[in-house]
Amino acid sequence: MNRKEKKYYLMLLNREKERIFRNIDYLKEGIGKGEKGIPTHIADHGTDEFEKGLDIDISDAERKLLEKIDAAIEKLEKNRYGVCESCGKKIPVSRLKALPYARFCIKCQNEKEKSGG
Ligand SMILES: [Zn+2]
Repeated sequence: MNRKEKKYYLMLLNREKERIFRNIDYLKEGIGKGEKGIPTHIADHGTDEFEKGLDIDISDAERKLLEKIDAAIEKLEKNRYGVCESCGKKIPVSRLKALPYARFCIKCQNEKEKSGG
């Protein structure tokens, strides 16, 4: 994977993150919880800095998704991105584009879903 590709996937992952943060912000406003508030201009800052202040209540699903995204970013940095964690084969580009934080290839994912994991 070259630098350009890494940058591209990093962009996709960060975009996913921003979407989740915006979602959280929206939910918080919706239920009027807390005063902290999340900047809606995350894109201007970069999520790393923003993330440190993330101590609000978010749902398990969102938390898990964020963990997946962070794990994917870490793999990008270690040049292990895009490799199935189960069988070690490359995850197809089309799948990564649709699901940039995918940990498994489609085959392994299906098998895991079948076995309930
Ligand atoms: Zn696999």
